[in-house]
Amino acid sequence: MTESASLALRVRAAPFEPGWAVFNRLALRHGCRSRSEFVRQVPLANRDPRNVIHDLERGNRQPDIARLSGIPLETLIHNSITHTDDGSVLAGELISRIGNVGHSCNFARICPDCLRSDIEQCGGPVACRPWRRSWWDVAKISSCPHHGRVLLASCPACGHIFRRSYLSPAHCACGHHVLEERTKLVTPDSRIGDAYLVGRLGGGPRIVHAFLDGLAFADAAEVMQWLGATARWGRSIVAWRHQDLAERAHTMTAGFAVCEAFPRQLEEMLDAMLEACPFARQTPQGVYGAMQKWLGLATQPALDPIRDVVRNHAVKHVPITAATMLFRNPVPMGELTTLGALGKLLGVSPERLVKAASALGMIPPSSRPRTGTVVTKSLKEPLAAFFRKLCSREEACQYLGTTPMVFKTLNIRNHLPRGYRIGGIWYSVADLERFLEALQGDAAFVNRPPPGSATILRAVRICHRASEEIIGGLLQGQIKATGR
Ligand SMILES: [Zn+2]
Ligand SMILES: [Zn+2]
Repeated sequence: MTESASLALRVRAAPFEPGWAVFNRLALRHGCRSRSEFVRQVPLANRDPRNVIHDLERGNRQPDIARLSGIPLETLIHNSITHTDDGSVLAGELISRIGNVGHSCNFARICPDCLRSDIEQCGGPVACRPWRRSWWDVAKISSCPHHGRVLLASCPACGHIFRRSYLSPAHCACGHHVLEERTKLVTPDSRIGDAYLVGRLGGGPRIVHAFLDGLAFADAAEVMQWLGATARWGRSIVAWRHQDLAERAHTMTAGFAVCEAFPRQLEEMLDAMLEACPFARQTPQGVYGAMQKWLGLATQPALDPIRDVVRNHAVKHVPITAATMLFRNPVPMGELTTLGALGKLLGVSPERLVKAASALGMIPPSSRPRTGTVVTKSLKEPLAAFFRKLCSREEACQYLGTTPMVFKTLNIRNHLPRGYRIGGIWYSVADLERFLEALQGDAAFVNRPPPGSATILRAVRICHRASEEIIGGLLQGQIKATGR
């Protein structure tokens, strides 16, 4: 065994063929029936078949494969999904941040149509003609844009998932010849999503997209997946793992479309989501649902432009309270809030606040106010001022210097300022003040000092009369002051 040893029989290099598949094809070329059989025949540093195959799966045997096949190492690495600290890389594109190892993705998927055309168009021994494309194993790609059909992940005859250990992609381990299979057709209007992704890797014509081209492949695919699902299903989406391959192709195409003319289409989608959301559920989670959750969990800066669009939309259209969370964080801004949230802010029970707001005409009388009623935050100051200057009936009695009986009489005759029915009756201190000033002004005719009385309080002091006399003056029309 020498390090420089290479093989007499070679296979032709094929675009996008991963290293492990080159190895498989070499094994076929040498008439082997399994990879371990081939491992025993070829010069390798470590001959333990289990280690070699394990290493092959992980892409650690590229120098060996380059030496055996005569294909340059850079070409093999370019064509293979390679795991790095940042994630999985293929053709110089970061295809996944978490490693392209999701269990929902089968790593030896095929396109039977592609394999058929290999047999028709390639030279050399027929068994070695069909070759695998590494983009078949990219989790976010579900269909072959060249043939418009979904990829095939498992054998239609025996139901087993295709393994990388199957030397030829044209045969299942059960012996089934998969080249005759016709997989589910992807409708022509659902193809552009996968076509874009394959084109980015260089496996097909490059499709230009103003927004997605600015993102890494992994981010572009993630954006297409999530925005596409949101465009299709709204706030409650069907999980990726529950979408079949044709559905996924459709979703990616929807995502491709939503990102066009960025951010206009996205904003229109958000408007539609707001429209579809019941009034009582208008929170960021209620309106934007799963997408909002995703934008909170996926923290890569590449998604910031989308987060900005959603945040601006939320601030403009969704009531924001102290407890409102957007992308798992409190929202500091926002022009809208709810009456309930304002109540909490002002330390007033929501019911009282709702009544006050409607009594003050801050809410149109036609709407039936509730704590969830959306109002602008500019109402906070006037409402706060209003509640700062309210007093109860007892306090009002004291303020005016009347007994409850006198107060009642004045009230019945509509002389007193209006009371606000907001959970009991409340009077505005400012109104009472104005009433007293009016009394004082109108009662200038009274110049006799008042006789002593238990009820002489402030009002009496101001107009120098006993309360009975004030009532007398009011009733006889000598005093014109009224509260309303
Ligand atoms: Zn194909
Ligand atoms: Zn089978």
